[in-house]
Amino acid sequence: MTNIELKNRDLDVIWHPCTQMKDHETLPLIPIKKAHGIYLEDFEGNIYIDAISSWWVNMFGHTNRYINEKIKEQLDTLEHVILAGFTHEQVVKLSERLVKLTPDGLEKCFYSDNGSSAVEVALKMSYHAHLNDGKKDKSIFVSLTNSYHGETIGALSVGDVELYKDTYEPLLLKTIQTAVPKDATKESAIEASFAFEELCKERADEISAIILEPLIQGAGYMHMYHTHFLVLIREICTKYDVHLIADEVMVGFGRTGELFACNKANITPDFIVLSKGLTGGYLPLSVVLTTNDIYAKFYCDYSDNKAFLHSHSYTGNALACAAANATLDIFENDDIIEKNRVKAEYMAHKLEKFKTLKNVASVRQTGMVLAVELKGYKSEERIGLKVYQYGLKHGVLLRPLGHIVYFMPPYIITNDEIDKMMDTAYDAIKLLDS
Ligand code: PMP
Repeated sequence: MTNIELKNRDLDVIWHPCTQMKDHETLPLIPIKKAHGIYLEDFEGNIYIDAISSWWVNMFGHTNRYINEKIKEQLDTLEHVILAGFTHEQVVKLSERLVKLTPDGLEKCFYSDNGSSAVEVALKMSYHAHLNDGKKDKSIFVSLTNSYHGETIGALSVGDVELYKDTYEPLLLKTIQTAVPKDATKESAIEASFAFEELCKERADEISAIILEPLIQGAGYMHMYHTHFLVLIREICTKYDVHLIADEVMVGFGRTGELFACNKANITPDFIVLSKGLTGGYLPLSVVLTTNDIYAKFYCDYSDNKAFLHSHSYTGNALACAAANATLDIFENDDIIEKNRVKAEYMAHKLEKFKTLKNVASVRQTGMVLAVELKGYKSEERIGLKVYQYGLKHGVLLRPLGHIVYFMPPYIITNDEIDKMMDTAYDAIKLLDS
């Protein structure tokens, strides 16, 4: 098989995600033959550092020996079984571990198979919990400006990134956006919390929940804000009987420097939504954890019609749960969060030099996520695409979000590899200005 052959066969039959397919008339697709560690390898022997963890999912490298082993073991035991009326060892073990690791008070796990569907689960559960409590009017969801929660209709409705949302506006649920803190200062966090409290004062009777991405808005151009915002939002939610849904699909599993971003603020949301890193980047799986208090609102005789009758065929898939358990083993055994602190510091130091470039507006970092914001370009210039192409030519997969070049590598990256990844981005940005 050659690159060319595979590219042609692909374009005959595949419609790729988040892609204007006509771009591929000039922008070559890259068939990947194999991958190991942080490297992807194509059919011509070119290798690329996966600086974005394959859409933010990979934690410990591709074809990780330990995770591979655990999935293979599971494969010969049980690949999948319906989770209604049945259960299995991997899902029980995983749920016990997640209950221990997530913020105190989150005690029940509900599974689905991707981030968007888990967001849908949390939204429905929140509305339904209020309804079971006799509160019929709480049918509005609040989210933050510039937020992103996925692409299915409900998840898109609570998002606020025009690029993905505008076209579908007539199809979407009515939601309200309240201001995200405009920068990472505590003052901005306080200011933004006032706006949410004002909204609650007026309309809490209609509001089911606020959903937010704790600390980093990923697809919203890696916008970062202060932990204090989470503390204040938690207080307001409690005061006005509005649920707090923490969408940790991207930030969960160590990206912000703690295992979960909510841990950084020491808060317990009513729902936490997890996916991406949950299986180490191997298999689709997502989970919503909630409190026993919420769970109890659904627990009654069947005839009372209060059950949460939501389901996905692959709920709690055994192979995916085995990958997730293997991923948690690595977190536990290899002291990953502590090691990441050292790596994050190294990257922080490397980020400094980007500030000297004339076309850089600012740089920011939260834990293992770093972003460089470019200035002076119009969106039609597709500046991100130029950085992407430069990166590929020099062996690094960067995938800027518009004018934001960011780094979110697998945690096994070494300092030398960090040098290569960040120096390549630096050169690409510098070249844009010449
Ligand atoms: N929430 C957040 C914060 C995300 O970043 C994403 C995906 N990038 C999603 C939800 C949706 O997840 P998925 O793509 O698995 O549907």
